[in-house]
Amino acid sequence: MQRDPIDVLIVGAGPTGLTLAVQLALLGVRIRIIDRSADRVHESRALALQPRSLEVLAGLGVTDGLVAAGNRAVQVKLHLRDRVLSVPLFDLGLEDTEYPYLLFLSQAETERLLEERLAGLGITVERQVELTDLTQDAGSVTAVLRHAGTGPAADETVRAAYAVGCDGARSAVRRIAGIPFKGSTYPQTFLLADAEADGLERGAAHAFASAKGILLFFPLGSPATWRLLAIKRTTAARPPGAPEATLDEVQAAVDDYTGGTVRLHDAAWITEFRIHLRAAARYRSGRLFLAGDAAHVHSPAGAQGMNTGIQDAVNLGWKLAQALAGTGGPNLLDTYQAERQPVGKAVLRLSNRPFRIATSLNPLVRFARSRVSPVVAPLAAKATWGRARLFRTISELGIGYRRSALSVNGPGPRVNWRQVRWGRVKSRHSGLRAGDRLPDTPVVYEGETTTLHRVLAGPAWHLLHWRLPDGGAAHYLVRPDGYIGYCYMGDNDEGAAGLAEYLNRWVG
Ligand SMILES: Cc1cc2nc3c(=O)[nH]c(=O)nc-3n(C[C@H](O)[C@H](O)[C@H](O)COP(=O)(O)OP(=O)(O)OC[C@H]3O[C@@H](n4cnc5c(N)ncnc54)[C@H](O)[C@@H]3O)c2cc1C
Repeated sequence: MQRDPIDVLIVGAGPTGLTLAVQLALLGVRIRIIDRSADRVHESRALALQPRSLEVLAGLGVTDGLVAAGNRAVQVKLHLRDRVLSVPLFDLGLEDTEYPYLLFLSQAETERLLEERLAGLGITVERQVELTDLTQDAGSVTAVLRHAGTGPAADETVRAAYAVGCDGARSAVRRIAGIPFKGSTYPQTFLLADAEADGLERGAAHAFASAKGILLFFPLGSPATWRLLAIKRTTAARPPGAPEATLDEVQAAVDDYTGGTVRLHDAAWITEFRIHLRAAARYRSGRLFLAGDAAHVHSPAGAQGMNTGIQDAVNLGWKLAQALAGTGGPNLLDTYQAERQPVGKAVLRLSNRPFRIATSLNPLVRFARSRVSPVVAPLAAKATWGRARLFRTISELGIGYRRSALSVNGPGPRVNWRQVRWGRVKSRHSGLRAGDRLPDTPVVYEGETTTLHRVLAGPAWHLLHWRLPDGGAAHYLVRPDGYIGYCYMGDNDEGAAGLAEYLNRWVG
């Protein structure tokens, strides 16, 4: 354990806190990561990793393990009234990534692999340690930590330069910082089960749409083959203390949608829950930061929740490291909220719309779901441009920070990535700009065939000079989180001077 004073106190060891801890440890920052629970979660919870999460975690040395443990689904079977439609999943718009698929893996496994990576870097999560109070002054934060089984008299006081609340939807850091968490709760109650199921084709996700709503099966793999999600037939809440839903109850819901064609058995986890849609008014208060569910919670539609938290962490970690090293200037830390809060808001909107359509009891929407969707779905499945755009958004590869103060375009025309990619791929990028994610591409490096992202792996700034086929050059300064900070075209003094100015201001 790091002795007081430390650089960063991370409160919460869910996927967000663990990702932040790995990045900070790789950057040599002195951290402590605490969690009030005795063990990491063993329920599946978030069940899928998006391509962009796999990319950023690859830079931290975690993704190979995740991919080996996970399950790739390539299509969704849409069960309509009179037929089953196969809709390819993530088959378009993802040409510039090594991970063009949704990786199904339970959150428990994701956390296990992150924690193992952290342990490999010499950091242990301090469990059964709860943050109970936090104060800050101009130079540091002071946290009060309660160790399980002890009273206030034994509380530990720890000083750190910064504290990050990765402590989930009921964040203590957010509450203590007085940051509002406005939003609402959806009226429906949901049933979730990880179980075995007979009557479902393996290797695909399944959706059963009806006037009542949508029943979904995802190929989870572990701790059970399937994850099921459905709306409960009654909105009446289970009385406090009542046992969780039974397998019979879940089976009855499944029968409603499938007409009895799917039989459940051997459930590993059954739960029911309500869903909230809330966003923190600020992501920063002085030396305190919020990331992950502490900053935004929303519906699971689109599998964005955990993934957005992981990327909050990756955006924040290197900025904290630079602030601690005294490089990057006083405004660098402000760019965390400026860049990530719009993403959080967009995710709330993105997950809300399809969710409302899937769950609405409005007669018009019910009619559309049961009668119009069988006609529209096959046409939508053929709309390649629309699908590519959708996958680009859901995969989180489309996230960028063009409006950020950290994104500066130097002179020269924008680079068309197609030129750079030797025409191998039908890329839809019209031109790369500062703030965009650096696309991935196969490269030969030191005689080995590899990928650009693998060459640039690790949280550090990289300067990439790319000689284009026509003899011109493109220059990209790539941030430690894989986004372009500064770029210019051609071998010109103005571009080089702009680069020097950028480095001086933001990199130090
Ligand atoms: C039933 C269910 C199903 C879900 N399904 C999906 C899904 O399909 N897809 C998806 O993307 N997301 C899903 N989610 C959401 C997903 O689990 C969260 O988005 C994700 O866990 C957020 O990670 P986090 O690290 O930000 O917060 P959390 O995972 O909530 O971690 C916060 C940690 O902080 C600790 N903590 C809290 N307060 C303190 C304190 N005062 N002191 C010390 N430690 C503290 C907690 O013990 C916890 O370990 C689901 C969630 C649930 C509950």
